[in-house]
Amino acid sequence: MALREIIGQDRALRILFGTLKRNRVPSAILLSGDAGIGKRLAAVNYAKAINCLEPVDFDCCGKCISCKKIDSENHPDISTIVPENDLISIETIRKIEETISLRPFEGRKKVVIIDDADAMNIYAANAFLKTLEEPPEDSLIMLISSNPDRLPDTIRSRCINVRFYPLPSDGCREVVSKNIDAKNMKFILNLAMGRPGLAISRDFEKENEWFAKLLNNMVQGESKDTWADKSEIKLWLDMAFILLRDMAVYKITERESDLMLDKKQLAMKGQGIRSILDTYQDMQQVKGLLDFNLNKSITWNYVASIMRKCVNE
Ligand SMILES: [Zn+2]
Repeated sequence: MALREIIGQDRALRILFGTLKRNRVPSAILLSGDAGIGKRLAAVNYAKAINCLEPVDFDCCGKCISCKKIDSENHPDISTIVPENDLISIETIRKIEETISLRPFEGRKKVVIIDDADAMNIYAANAFLKTLEEPPEDSLIMLISSNPDRLPDTIRSRCINVRFYPLPSDGCREVVSKNIDAKNMKFILNLAMGRPGLAISRDFEKENEWFAKLLNNMVQGESKDTWADKSEIKLWLDMAFILLRDMAVYKITERESDLMLDKKQLAMKGQGIRSILDTYQDMQQVKGLLDFNLNKSITWNYVASIMRKCVNE
């Protein structure tokens, strides 16, 4: 594919093409915005456009040997970094420094794409700052982040910031339906909330079944089958927010068409809107505390007490 084929990110593409047209590729770019909206795809295709042997209107051709090597992750001048155990360490940053200090082997520029760049710890960020301050010639670093606020200001201010936004519903539908063939497309698009990459990489229907099963266990007071780890707690809480959002919306409009989940799932009883919103807020607090290593079974019991109250009211 080519950079221009990325759907629903016209503004971001205008900025990226602007740098290519003026031949002013910066040494560092931060691609920020929600997960699943095309940041990584844009980064890879921008790297292709820079190194393409037969560019078409400043975009990559997608067919030359350089484009093909980048697509198959075999280009010696392009590397991608992803966090290991949610962390980008100082050792990784040192390796990046080494890699980009060499001249390109066969492309025009050395490109390093750092996915989830906000996973750098403070030591890594400090080391990385030095690279950003004195970028080697013929190099480009692309940081990708859905939590750019977690990056130090000193790093952010040294990058061209290209912001990505969730896609409008037509664009989201177009991307999702090109990639998956789902029975319940409406449900999937509802949950994608403009982030087609999430709908493609995850199975929302299965996640929802899992969420409902655990909620049922929780409300029944069973705690045998709980969350496996912190990422499952986060995922489960995100589903709980959708459920509570639906409950509140249904209280107000009483229209099924406004719901993201199936109405059957809402367990509506006599809950007042205030109680639903309070529950929502309490759960947000739990989510905020997760980064402080909350104990899993304490979290389970606490969340259970909140949800039981809300669902049974
Ligand atoms: Zn090409």
